[in-house]
Amino acid sequence: MNFFAQELIQKSDVSDIFDQVLQGKTVGLNDCVRLLKSNNTYALGIIGNILREKLFGKIATYVNNIILNYTNVCITYCKFCAFYRAPGDSEGYTLSVDDVVKRVVTARDQFGISQVLMQGGHNPELKLDYYEQAFRTIKDKCPDVAIHGLSASEIDTISKVERSSTREVLSRLKESGLDSLPGAGAEILDDDVKSRISPLKIKSQEWLNIMRQAHELGIKSSATMMYGTGEDYEQRARHLIKIAELQEKTHGFMSFIPWSLEPNNTKMQEDGMIKYPSGGLELLRMIAISRIVFSGLIDHLQSSWLTNGIGMAQLALTYGADDFGGTLIGEEVVSATGARSTELSADKIIAAIKQIGFDAHERNNFYETIRVH
Ligand code: SF4
Repeated sequence: MNFFAQELIQKSDVSDIFDQVLQGKTVGLNDCVRLLKSNNTYALGIIGNILREKLFGKIATYVNNIILNYTNVCITYCKFCAFYRAPGDSEGYTLSVDDVVKRVVTARDQFGISQVLMQGGHNPELKLDYYEQAFRTIKDKCPDVAIHGLSASEIDTISKVERSSTREVLSRLKESGLDSLPGAGAEILDDDVKSRISPLKIKSQEWLNIMRQAHELGIKSSATMMYGTGEDYEQRARHLIKIAELQEKTHGFMSFIPWSLEPNNTKMQEDGMIKYPSGGLELLRMIAISRIVFSGLIDHLQSSWLTNGIGMAQLALTYGADDFGGTLIGEEVVSATGARSTELSADKIIAAIKQIGFDAHERNNFYETIRVH
């Protein structure tokens, strides 16, 4: 570290937290709030980058994947969502099992994908059998493609449709071929925030319980945070600490992905609850703080190009992120906000990683390198 970086860190208002983390200690709630309130973004980034470099050197990974948004029919009406359509809406769609499988097979043949990220609305017409058939057939035709599918709130919906427990649903889905769960549906794990932005969705403890059950059944998962919903720093800090505490018990989170709310075309924007997305500086701060708070707990942090663009994702790699995320062919949820183009070719990701002097590794669903570029 050069002289100027050292000065910046030593004079920072959170230098005592930096010292603790660099010595391997974990961050508590109060210190997490202090990090979020600190305006010394450069110092946060330097520490985030040091912690990343210790684990990964100059390696940045990405996964060759598709997102398969199998239905947009949803009865949960989240105010931040531009994607859903109510049952009976003429723009509603639900893919048949055959269509789901065809898309995966085509993407495997055309792009060599190693993961399908499967997420959709809370559609009460879809029974467990639909997912079991889809997963079994995908595994039969594409055993080399991992199924990273269904958020905790989708699992909850399926359990209600089936009148079964979430544990039973998870167990049956695992038997059918589910490899891991995405972290979506967490938003901010604070029930005041949830009541304001997604009153019909599962509450914080339910999200955490479903994740815990998945981990206990041997299903790994990601964790996410959708910030910029009007939450305060204490609420954001509680979100991070709840995830850190669960990880201490289960070690089931493979990665953490902080992304910002895209308000365009949403009820939150229509009602004047929020006007603009949080922007690039906030992304860098969240990446660095996540790396610091999850130091020793969650190794992988995604750079969130989907809502912040390639340039910001490159910067995020220098603030603590180690993974570029996926190619996300076929994404429709963020596209519905009109935010930006929502797919990237593997070549563009590799070029973006190399432009900043990092080594590009293609990874699989479990963050293992499968190709070095
Ligand atoms: S975020 Fe998911 S659960 Fe909420 S309305 Fe959109 S599709 Fe439905």
